[in-house]
Amino acid sequence: MLAPAPKPWIMEIAPYVPGRATTDDGRRVVKLSSNENALGTSEAARAAFASAADNLERYPDASGTMVREATAAKYGLDPARVIYGNGSDEILHLAAGAFAGPGDEVIFVRYGFSVYEIAARRVGAVPVVAPDKDYATDVDAILGHVTERTRIVYLANPNNPTGTYTPRAEIARLHANLPGTVLLVLDHAYAEYLDIGEDDGGLELAKAAANVLVTRTFSKIHGLAAERIGWGYASAAIVEALHRIRLPFNITIAGQRAAVAALGDSAFVDRSRAHNAKWRTWLAEQIASLGNTGIRAIPSRANFLLVLFEGRLTAEAAYKGLMEAGYITRWLPGQQLGHGLRITIGTEADMRGVAEALRRLAGQAG
Ligand code: PMP
Repeated sequence: MLAPAPKPWIMEIAPYVPGRATTDDGRRVVKLSSNENALGTSEAARAAFASAADNLERYPDASGTMVREATAAKYGLDPARVIYGNGSDEILHLAAGAFAGPGDEVIFVRYGFSVYEIAARRVGAVPVVAPDKDYATDVDAILGHVTERTRIVYLANPNNPTGTYTPRAEIARLHANLPGTVLLVLDHAYAEYLDIGEDDGGLELAKAAANVLVTRTFSKIHGLAAERIGWGYASAAIVEALHRIRLPFNITIAGQRAAVAALGDSAFVDRSRAHNAKWRTWLAEQIASLGNTGIRAIPSRANFLLVLFEGRLTAEAAYKGLMEAGYITRWLPGQQLGHGLRITIGTEADMRGVAEALRRLAGQAG
């Protein structure tokens, strides 16, 4: 029987595997697998979300005027150059859709966010993997992979799943050495978890340069992952190209209102950042104190820890043991990290529970 054939490159895409919320037998356990906010959501954002139920028969403002203006005011940007999307995932996909095509090359780091490869393959582009330097981003390796066919470099800072941070000077060096025709996408999904006042200069670059797109999300520190809302900032020309291919009504009324309220609730953001820093440090210390077990955490600047298992206890066994103890973490064989578990920073009780379970599992294995 005849049937439509997907483009051959579509069949090369490895499906995105989201963080799990339940065990194989359907038990609900604490979810530490998707880097969500341990403190929940801002109450102001929750109330704004609920207020959207009044006008369900109306289409949302397609251009997100209010939320773009609130974003621009908060970060000192031009509202016309802010573009909103169905999560920052959509902006990442739009970038590939507008700037890469069959045969073009798209670079990202070996231990990077899996959506970059999907976005590249979706448009028929060739994914090019730049090796890391002990799990951290290696700017020279990225630059070394640039060819005449390179159209996009995707880089998350802090990076997922490693949690590593590329300092401002390195980002500037990367940008300065990229051809002007290559779009540098700086993915700031975890940027709010950096210390107050610290930033990698991405937004400053995006303000001035013709080839930089910064993406941000409400899914992490703002605790609005369910709403699917994120944004990008770039030159007027880049943003115009992205607008041309986005879905007409890609963000909901509830999402727009919740995002405006979230931008105004800096107390919630500050609380979330402080909670995260405290328990990320604590969990990293607990893991370091396991001693000679071959278990180590990569120093993280995000809301998770990448924990490597290079001794008797394997990452797979730790994943299963933590699941038994009531915690779903993210085991990463799909990201060539079969020896790694990514653990989201949760509540104090979650972190104490995870540390205790890891100590027991390491003891049993050793
Ligand atoms: N970038 C990175 C590095 C991420 O980890 C995530 C979330 N997993 C995203 C982008 C996408 O976030 P969202 O689509 O929820 O905005």
